[in-house]
Amino acid sequence: MDFGLTEEQELLFENLADLVQREWDESEYNDCYYNRHELPQRFIDVLIENGFTLLGVPEEYGGTPVDNLTLVMYAVELARLTGANLPVASNAISIDDILAFGNEEQQKFILEYVGKYGTPPFALGFSEPQAGSDSSSILTTATRRDGKVYVNGHKTMVTDADISPYLLTITRDLEGEVPMKSMSMWLVPSDAAGVRLEPLHKIGLKTGRFFEVYLEDVEVEESALIGVEGNGFMQLMKNFEIERLMLVAMGVGMAEAAFEEIARYCNVREQFGKPIGFFQIVQEYLTDMKIKIENMKGLLYKTAWKKDNGQSIQIDSALAKRYCAIASFEVIDTCMQLMGGIGYTEESRISRMWLDIRHLRMAGGTDEIMVHIGGRQLLKQYRQ
Ligand SMILES: Cc1cc2nc3c(=O)[nH]c(=O)nc-3n(C[C@H](O)[C@H](O)[C@H](O)COP(=O)(O)OP(=O)(O)OC[C@H]3O[C@@H](n4cnc5c(N)ncnc54)[C@H](O)[C@@H]3O)c2cc1C
Repeated sequence: MDFGLTEEQELLFENLADLVQREWDESEYNDCYYNRHELPQRFIDVLIENGFTLLGVPEEYGGTPVDNLTLVMYAVELARLTGANLPVASNAISIDDILAFGNEEQQKFILEYVGKYGTPPFALGFSEPQAGSDSSSILTTATRRDGKVYVNGHKTMVTDADISPYLLTITRDLEGEVPMKSMSMWLVPSDAAGVRLEPLHKIGLKTGRFFEVYLEDVEVEESALIGVEGNGFMQLMKNFEIERLMLVAMGVGMAEAAFEEIARYCNVREQFGKPIGFFQIVQEYLTDMKIKIENMKGLLYKTAWKKDNGQSIQIDSALAKRYCAIASFEVIDTCMQLMGGIGYTEESRISRMWLDIRHLRMAGGTDEIMVHIGGRQLLKQYRQ
């Protein structure tokens, strides 16, 4: 078993570290986070210029293909180096459904948009007030009248609905016998008549906003359909296991960033005439955090490696999502504890990570749903 980096990975991460060293501006990011509520576009433009935002996208689409393991490691590194949850690391996975199932025009538009802004041009409209973990109970419909398609429904927790030109909207044929085989995927223009947004106010991840989206008789063209009608859920789920890994990879990177910062702090912060790192309970915290970080990375990277080697990651991805979401939160929470009261202020980077990390235990499938997926499959494996 080889735990070393390949030459390409070494080069990639060296370049990334240089770029972050040169271009990352913590006070600029804090301003984006706490005041402007927008992504740090100047830094993202630098990532675009250096080819990072199309990492993992096939060459024929203008990207730089890498395996899943490298992509996951990149997401960890970017979060470790910046201490920020920048969703741009997972572009390749976010746009893959559309590259795979969309028509030529949709593919072209999406690639041009990502190339220009560094983020996908759509917000995902899947969750509904009555349909969270149980996505089979969505009620948004797309019906035909006089040769037109009309979308009606209510989506919730739609991230970035205000800045995305399209809503990737999942609808359901309510007459269909099997809900999961009755869903369709539409690219609904956000500025179409009948689309109404109402803000929800997240406590963290403040570089983007969250919305209730009301769709009232929104007229769309037939060409807004992505892929095959009735196949929308399957299309959306094409990469969901890797999506889960990418999501927690950013959490693992932030946990490592917090750990590195606090380990340095424990060497210099003095109380009772000694650095706080002198106290054994503090050493225990540091030791246990490091164990969690190593475990998270081990589980995450092995799962990505299995995927790259054609093995099933149905169980592994659920275990990794559950473990990393909880452990990364625990690490950052302990880091905040070790920073003392100053860690509870907006002036500390750790408090920002603490606000961000908590969402991982809900988004992309909750901790409990990971048990629902993983637990059932584990039992099945050991059934006679
Ligand atoms: C930061 C963030 C960003 C998001 N962005 C988007 C987005 O862009 N687009 C989008 O469509 N959605 C988005 N979501 C929504 C996300 O997908 C849902 O929050 C998630 O699927 C959980 O659904 P819910 O919040 O309705 O919780 P519920 O499903 O109502 O769950 C409530 C509680 O019940 C538990 N529970 C539910 N079912 C079971 C079960 N079978 N067994 C045991 N426990 C169970 C859950 O684990 C949870 O603890 C986002 C969420 C967050 C937090």
